[in-house]
Amino acid sequence: MDTEFKGKEDFFRSLREDMVEYQLEARGIKDTAVLNAMRNVPRHIFLPEELALDAYADYPLPLFAGQTISQPYIVAYMTEKLTLSPDDKVLEIGTGSGYQTAILAELSAEVFSVERIPKLSDWAKKRLDYLGYENVHLLVRGSPLGWEEFAPYNKIIVTAAAEQLPEELLHQLHDNGKMIIPIGKFSQYLYLVEKIDGKPSTRRLLPVAFVPLIVD
Ligand code: SAH
Repeated sequence: MDTEFKGKEDFFRSLREDMVEYQLEARGIKDTAVLNAMRNVPRHIFLPEELALDAYADYPLPLFAGQTISQPYIVAYMTEKLTLSPDDKVLEIGTGSGYQTAILAELSAEVFSVERIPKLSDWAKKRLDYLGYENVHLLVRGSPLGWEEFAPYNKIIVTAAAEQLPEELLHQLHDNGKMIIPIGKFSQYLYLVEKIDGKPSTRRLLPVAFVPLIVD
């Protein structure tokens, strides 16, 4: 991307090193592949230019159309919980900026990511293309939820909060697959869902605050 920050890659790399050490490792993220992905992906590229200097700070940031990009720790935490392997096929709901998509693309075989707001999907596509990810497939769709055509997925990550566990997504998950998803209306928690013999086995993790999942 031709921004005023071009040529400042070493500066941003050092901010990422600090982010990994003080925000991720310090809070218990251990998976070295996840830590390396967080070191490698230039998060500032995914943000509006005026927020680039905040890209490696310890809080979520506004995108546009009322949407947000998650705090780095939450991105790393959700990714670590999925225990991605290099041959996994992954579904992401809520492409947003495309940052989480890039992290997934570093760690898995194919990423299928859906976003209901066309302008955000375009934004993400430009950046993912610029960075050269060839294993990412984007679709503008809010409803029906997910991307049934390429199911089943080994892993599913949802980056908007559902009111309950969506049946459609459980259906698109491979048996023995894992899904991480924020659920709740007024107070939300992240849940890790494993599909065992067709049934969900659910574990509640952290309290979180995501924008709502909207299925029109
Ligand atoms: N992972 C993103 C964060 C996105 S915020 C990032 O790293 O930047 C959540 C996104 O989910 C928003 O862009 C919102 O438009 C999208 N969303 C909400 N409901 C959706 C649905 N039913 N299908 C696809 N995307 C949806």
